[in-house]
Amino acid sequence: MYRLILVVLLLTVLYILLRQMFRGFKTSIRDGREKSSAQAQHEDQDQMIEDPVCHTFVPRRIALIETIGGREYCFCSQECVVRFRREHPI
Ligand SMILES: [Zn+2]
Repeated sequence: MYRLILVVLLLTVLYILLRQMFRGFKTSIRDGREKSSAQAQHEDQDQMIEDPVCHTFVPRRIALIETIGGREYCFCSQECVVRFRREHPI
């Protein structure tokens, strides 16, 4: 009788431990997903975009993004924005 109680107790502990492990596993998956989405955002910021004026590739994070005629253009400098606006009057 005493052994039976011990076995049940052991199984209960095992069950709780497994549940915690499983929960930890699920949490780590969610963390991984959050990390990967943050990484995707980071990659988006590092995306190289061509300047339509001087054809230099600039990372999105430092590019000058201007909406001209409903389209988004990325420029390396204000100089190129001015040049582009002069060459493409709306
Ligand atoms: Zn440029």
